[in-house]
Amino acid sequence: MNQKRVLVTGGAGFIGSHLCEKLLEQGHDVVCLDNLFTGQKDNIRHLMNNPYFEFVRQDVLEDIYIECDQIYNLACPASPIHYQYDPIKTGKTSVMGALHTLGLAKRCHARIVQASTSEIYGDPEVHPQPESYRGCVNPNGMRSCYDEGKRMAETLFFDYHRQHGVDIKVIRIFNTYGPRMRSDDGRVVSNFIVQALSGKDITIYGNGQQTRSFCYVDDLVDGMIRMMNSRDGFTGPVNLGNPGEFTMLQLAELIIQITGSHSQIVYLPLPQDDPTQRKPVIELAKKELDWEPTIPLEEGLKKTIAYFKKTLNYA
Ligand code: NAD
Ligand code: UDP
Repeated sequence: MNQKRVLVTGGAGFIGSHLCEKLLEQGHDVVCLDNLFTGQKDNIRHLMNNPYFEFVRQDVLEDIYIECDQIYNLACPASPIHYQYDPIKTGKTSVMGALHTLGLAKRCHARIVQASTSEIYGDPEVHPQPESYRGCVNPNGMRSCYDEGKRMAETLFFDYHRQHGVDIKVIRIFNTYGPRMRSDDGRVVSNFIVQALSGKDITIYGNGQQTRSFCYVDDLVDGMIRMMNSRDGFTGPVNLGNPGEFTMLQLAELIIQITGSHSQIVYLPLPQDDPTQRKPVIELAKKELDWEPTIPLEEGLKKTIAYFKKTLNYA
């Protein structure tokens, strides 16, 4: 096989740790660079004894000097409570992280994949969202540090491509879930599962009619690697997500049913700028990457619930 030296920024996080694991399985030489803000050593502990895996504790705000053939740039807190904890830092992480990884890709002639997001579309007026939709984003609200940071990162990626010929690939990830999500990161899937397992109230924000499309992490990682290996000149942006669309009320009811929980549903105020609907058009990913998700929500939730049961010691 053709072994590559692969740098994964944000590799100790939820998605990054699954990506590192898969790349090692495929025989690559992987460097995980992470400042452990939301990532955890426990996510990569099982990889530490592999001679082809290295962990570098570093912030992407600092210059990166690592020789590599491929880069996946994932470093950025992704859950609203974490990216809003220090919004100025979040903006810097997206922008400076893009500049540093793009500079590295330019020097090393490495191919680079940017983990962009469906938040690029903001609170979308076009439904479902194709890549051609330019979005409806508040530039100065609570979510802007993340949304606008990721939008600027996309701009930098395309400018480095046009100006310096850097071999870029941009993926727009829709809500992804699975084992190694943090129990305390406030995202809806982890919140509802932990609440259901502990018998606490299930907290729906707003009336629960807002929708999201949930992709299981294994499907996403498969799509990310396909994007890295896609044909020369295909830059994206390409949506990666599961087009199944669910209201938050449906999600709560499904999790209650699978766990057999006696938790009650309670309704709390909707956070500012919370998108009302979200569902990817994935025709481009099907055509260019021969990719589509294979794991239905119920199956993915069962695996995720099993993970939380084990790690949080629920019977
Ligand atoms: P995560 O918070 O688990 O992972 C992010 C990782 O980046 C963490 O390990 C964190 O410690 C690290 N990090 C944060 N700031 C850093 C910095 N300044 N320097 C170095 N490392 C830093 O989140 P995730 O869900 O695994 O998301 C990974 C990437 O995918 C993010 O870029 C996110 O924006 C993107 N994404 C995720 C989703 C999703 O649903 N999970 C959706 C869209 C986009
Ligand atoms: N949400 C909810 N209860 C929770 C956590 C989240 O109803 O305990 C809602 C949230 O308001 C949003 C949706 O679930 O409408 C998805 O939230 P998440 O933070 O997981 O992702 P994002 O909003 O970034 O898509």
